[in-house]
Amino acid sequence: MPLPEVEELIALQDLDRRIATLEAATRAIPPLVQEFESRLHASRGAHEAARGAHVELEKTRRLKEGELKQVEQQAKEKQVRLWEIRKNEEYSAVLKEIELLKAKQSALEEGILLLFDQIEEAARTVATREGDFREREAEFVRQRGAKGAELTRLQQEVAEFTKQRGGRARRIEAGLLQSYTRLLKSRGGLAVVPVKDGSCSGCFVALTPQAHTEVRKAEVLMTCANCQRILYWKG
Ligand SMILES: [Zn+2]
Repeated sequence: MPLPEVEELIALQDLDRRIATLEAATRAIPPLVQEFESRLHASRGAHEAARGAHVELEKTRRLKEGELKQVEQQAKEKQVRLWEIRKNEEYSAVLKEIELLKAKQSALEEGILLLFDQIEEAARTVATREGDFREREAEFVRQRGAKGAELTRLQQEVAEFTKQRGGRARRIEAGLLQSYTRLLKSRGGLAVVPVKDGSCSGCFVALTPQAHTEVRKAEVLMTCANCQRILYWKG
């Protein structure tokens, strides 16, 4: 059996390790939720960009349709004028203008047809991205809820163990508690370790036969000559 004060330290260390594990789990939660949130933002951005592109294409289509109407009107007016022209030269000039307007008209019509295809494609992209956005939104809300509940549970456990720890720590002699606390910090959360196969299980350095016997007898507090951790015999 270890010394009573060492037994107290073992129990305290057990609580300290549980608290540390729970605190690490607590710290891991906000970045996780943030990850879902930034995925949601990216997806919202992509959806908005697709919507913007669709709106732009519609705007271009309306502009081109307006332009087409104007060109058609101009051609019609010139056609009417042809009847009033007497001079041959002027007649050919206006005829030439009409031809140019007709060419412009068919170029515009082609452009508008092409735009219809692009608008259809853009509308499909908007729908896909909206679906993706809604999915990510639902996922984010779900995760935020679940992780929030987990965080609350972890914090309650930390509070509970911290309370227990306080009670235990008060029973330990101040100097010993101080050494333990210092060791816990400097030795990666392990201040009290059992001897295993004749070695300190904290640093794995072998004990002298004398030290080995002393730890086993458990009459005085023994520490590892190499890492200074508090040692006990686990029979
Ligand atoms: Zn050691």
